[in-house]
Amino acid sequence: MGTEAAGRSARFQGFGRQRQKELLQAWWRRLEAAPETGQPVAYLFISGAVEEVLRALGFEVAFPEVTALNCAIRQVSADFILRAEDLGYSQDVCGYVKNDIGLLLSGNRSPMGRLPRPTLLVCNYAGCRVYIKWFEALAEFYQAPLYVLDVPYLRTETVLPSDVEYVVGQLQEFIEFCERLTGQDFDEDRFRTLLANARQAEDLWVEVLEMARHVPAPFDSYFEAVYFMAPIYILRGLPETVEYYEGVRREIQERVELGLGPVPEERFRVVVEGPPPWPYLRDFWDMFKHWGAVTVASTYTKVGGLWDATGVRHDPARPLESVAEYAMHCYVNWGLDHRRRLLLDYHRRFQADGFVIHSVKSCKSFAAGEADFREVFVRECDIPTLFIESDLVDPRYFQKAQLRNRIDAFFEALAHRRAISP
Ligand code: SF4
Repeated sequence: MGTEAAGRSARFQGFGRQRQKELLQAWWRRLEAAPETGQPVAYLFISGAVEEVLRALGFEVAFPEVTALNCAIRQVSADFILRAEDLGYSQDVCGYVKNDIGLLLSGNRSPMGRLPRPTLLVCNYAGCRVYIKWFEALAEFYQAPLYVLDVPYLRTETVLPSDVEYVVGQLQEFIEFCERLTGQDFDEDRFRTLLANARQAEDLWVEVLEMARHVPAPFDSYFEAVYFMAPIYILRGLPETVEYYEGVRREIQERVELGLGPVPEERFRVVVEGPPPWPYLRDFWDMFKHWGAVTVASTYTKVGGLWDATGVRHDPARPLESVAEYAMHCYVNWGLDHRRRLLLDYHRRFQADGFVIHSVKSCKSFAAGEADFREVFVRECDIPTLFIESDLVDPRYFQKAQLRNRIDAFFEALAHRRAISP
């Protein structure tokens, strides 16, 4: 990407990546310090995370999924997965779980830092049924309490008031449970401040995502957005996260003004469904860049919140209700019809040329229904759709040459299609 265009120099480029790294490093240092400072640590999951509630109760939060994906990016996940398989975990079990179990058996020393023991395990139960088995195993190992929040699957177009009431009731019990566990009172003022910050960050994040509608797109909404999305999921509610998204918006706006983008010349715009292959993210991206292909919208970046598609926000005026509504509106907590319509809407609004479905072996929450999506897109909607498979964390399933052949064939066909019907 060039840094100078139309006589103006880029001033804000690189902020999103650099600042993300700093924020996550500071978070890891807080986690590492927890055993000395005595701060309680809760483990929870990204989809529907009730982190604002936990922070208002004095907890620092850790996300085993994030630890797993970072291990994969740093090429150490294979060893941890094999360690868990040696213990008896089957090849079919989600790689995130096996990475986490292998890490635990290796003393919890990850390349990002040393993971503290959990004071509490919170299974926020949105979308994935593997979660509860995973945290049952951790609860047994650590002898730590496990709290299961039962977040209903979204079965209708909008959230039912009875479902909101059901989750709010659980959250009230959960708060009392945590107060008894740690002896620390729930700080309502802090909770409202966290929700106000979360709301601001969500608004900014949606603004950023929508900028990919610009032609050419100023950023890649999958390969780059997976970096930009980390603070909204891990550090949502903190003031530095609001500042972060102000900075990312500035960076992306500047790219629009200067005509900068992820590829020198945008040739194809695609919508990507499914998680990334973390151990080979760069190789995978290069296969798309090679064709001048840019992702303009993706579902993985909505795994912890569909603020763009729903308008749902955390809200200090409706504190627990807004947390409950948010928790139900995460991508894998939506029904398949709902997801298919979302994908088609992205395709239309972001002027895409086709879909890429990256189906991963580990994650049934994503993979279920993806082959049917392909059938509908190709046969009923006449939208070119590439269906490829690997894994999100287990490097044994990434067949580089095979994937490159499939991707090349897809873009060749797209180029041909354009040539015969421009
Ligand atoms: S199955 Fe999917 S959603 Fe569930 S823990 Fe594994 S990667 Fe996460």
